[in-house]
Amino acid sequence: MSEKRTILIRYDEIGLKGRNRKYFEKILLKNIRRSLPKDKGIEYRVPRGRILVDLPESAVEECTEHLKLIPGIASFSVGVSVEPDFDGMAALGVQWIEPLLTSRGKLKFCVRTRRSAKTFPHTSPEINFEVGSRIMTQLCPKGLVVNIKESEFTLEIEIGSKETIVFDNRHPGLCGLPVGSSGNVLCLLSGGIDSPVAAYLMACRGCRVHFVFFDNQPFLGRGGYEKVLKLAKSINRYQGRAKLFVVPFQDIQVAIRDKCREENRVVLYRRMMYRIADAIANEFEMPGLVTGESLGQVASQTLENLAAVTCVTSMNILRPLIAMNKEGIIRHAKEIETYEISIEPQPDCCSVFMPASPVTRGKIPILENDEERIALKELQEEALKNMETINVDYL
Ligand code: ATP
Ligand code: MG
Repeated sequence: MSEKRTILIRYDEIGLKGRNRKYFEKILLKNIRRSLPKDKGIEYRVPRGRILVDLPESAVEECTEHLKLIPGIASFSVGVSVEPDFDGMAALGVQWIEPLLTSRGKLKFCVRTRRSAKTFPHTSPEINFEVGSRIMTQLCPKGLVVNIKESEFTLEIEIGSKETIVFDNRHPGLCGLPVGSSGNVLCLLSGGIDSPVAAYLMACRGCRVHFVFFDNQPFLGRGGYEKVLKLAKSINRYQGRAKLFVVPFQDIQVAIRDKCREENRVVLYRRMMYRIADAIANEFEMPGLVTGESLGQVASQTLENLAAVTCVTSMNILRPLIAMNKEGIIRHAKEIETYEISIEPQPDCCSVFMPASPVTRGKIPILENDEERIALKELQEEALKNMETINVDYL
C-alpha cells in the first residue's frame, strides 16, 4: 500500500462567512502550517471549502495530534490513495472497521462518495453500494449494520481526475474560529481553575490571547509566577505564542490593606487589576479583557461587584464563564489539561489579605472614597514601570 497519506480538513464556521471565507481560510491554513512539522515533506492544497494535507505515512500520528488542538477545524480524516477499484476500496474499509467490531456489538456504518471526475464510469450512489456491500459481506456476521442517518463509522471516498482517496472515520476537531481571525485580547490569568478555561474559550473564538498576572511575591514567593507561566504555555498549545505580562502587585495590596475599608479590599484589588490591564491592552492594541469571573461564584462576583470593576475601564470585558457553574468549568479544565496545573498549591493573591466578610454589593462612591486614600496613579505607574514582559512558547 502507498506510503503517501492525505488528510482532509473540514472547517467549522468558516464556511458560513460569505465573502470573509477567504480571510478565515488563509488564517487557518497559516495556523496549520505553523503547527505541523516543517521537515517532513508536507504539502498543502486548498480546493474549494476544505484543506488537504499530503504527507508521508510516518508523519500521520504526529500531525493528527497537532490537528486536534487547532481551533477552527470541525473535523479531519486521514486518507489513503488507492487504485479506483471497488475491491481495493472495500479492503481498506474492512481493515479499519474490523478492529472496532470485536468489543462493541453492533456498529452503524455507511459509505459516502464525492466524485469530481465525472469520467469515472459509476455514479456516487453506485459506488457507495458496491463498496458498502463488499464490506458488509465480510463484516455483517461480526455486527456491522448499514445506517446512513446515525452512522458511527463513515468511509468517505473521493474520486478526482488524478486520484482516488479513501478516508478513515472522522476525528472531531475543536471547532470555533481560527486563532488570529478575531484579533488580540488580554486575559487576567490568576493561577486558579477558571481563568485558563476563559482564555481557552476565547482562543476558540478566534482571539490570540495574551496574559497578565498580578504577582504578589514576596508574600507568595516565586511559586505563583512559575505556575502562571506553566498555564500560559499549556494554553499556548492551542494558539502558538503569546505574551505574558507579570505585574508586581504587592505595593498596591499593602496600600489598600493599610488605607481602605477592610470589606472592600477584594473589589479594590480587582479595580486596580482592571485599570492596569486596560493600560497594557491599550498600549499593545488588544481591544478586549478576558477574565474567569462567573456570576455568584464568590462574594466578589455579584452583579453589583462586577459592575463596580467594569466601570473603571471602557474596554470590552469578556467573561466567557459568566453563566457556567464550577462543575462545568472544572470539566472543561480537565478536558483542556490545565486542571492539574491549576490545582498545584498556591495561595490566591487576593486571599493573602482576605477580609473576614467581604462586601457583596460594593457601592461605587464608597469604593472611590477608599481609593482617594491611596496614591492610585503613582502606584499604577510604578507597577507598570516594573512590569516584566515574557514571550511565552508552548508546552
Ligand atoms: P478560582 O478557580 O480560584 O476561582 P480564579 O482564577 O477564578 O480562580 P478568582 O479569585 O475567582 O480566581 O478571580 C476572578 C478572576 O479575576 C480570575 O478568573 C482572573 O481572571 C482575575 N484574577 C484574579 N486574581 C488575579 C491575579 N493575581 N492575576 C491576574 N488575574 C487575576
Ligand atoms: Mg473564580
